[in-house]
Amino acid sequence: MEKLQKQGYSAFLNQYFRENEELFSNLSKKQKPHTMMITCSDSRINPALLLNAQPGELFITRNIGNIVPPYLPAKGATQAAIEYAVNVLDIPKIVILGHSNCGACAHMYHQTNKNEPSLPHVENWLQYIIPAKSAAMLEVHANHNNNIFELTEKHNVISSLQRLMEYPYIQTRLVNHEISLEGWWYDIGSGKVEMYNFNTRHFEPVIKEIS
Ligand SMILES: [Zn+2]
Repeated sequence: MEKLQKQGYSAFLNQYFRENEELFSNLSKKQKPHTMMITCSDSRINPALLLNAQPGELFITRNIGNIVPPYLPAKGATQAAIEYAVNVLDIPKIVILGHSNCGACAHMYHQTNKNEPSLPHVENWLQYIIPAKSAAMLEVHANHNNNIFELTEKHNVISSLQRLMEYPYIQTRLVNHEISLEGWWYDIGSGKVEMYNFNTRHFEPVIKEIS
């Protein structure tokens, strides 16, 4: 593993860094990212790869389940990252990026048995997904859509958007049209991204046809 990491770093230094020395020279003085992304810690999610973005473009905060907690009680790194992104870096767009096969959402349906390790911090953190689970279960009954996991992942993005809209400084910026919020759901197996439409209240493909 250590050898692999050294090889990876060496490849970065000799290829990507050399080809982009001017970019890194500019970035060494300041950052001006255009988008904040709040996404899952899941190893399969790579926002910069997904958007073909260079260093300096995306301000990213990650946690398990791409959760935005409520504004209060403000105890967490996620609230601090949002506050810094909006009030210091003045970032005009926040994207919440959820995804398929999310372990955090699936965990909500997982029956723990006594042979498994206890996960007090995980259990405590995932309480924020309870409203999404309830909404997903209602939708399964109403629409006969049986993909409860995908529905939970999508409702979890919507819950996070709703909580984000309750942050006072975000409310102010929304009223003044100084910030935009988006909710995305990324399907790992197909590369497809769907975006939440606030008017239709559905997730819709960002690009209609993927060739
Ligand atoms: Zn996840």
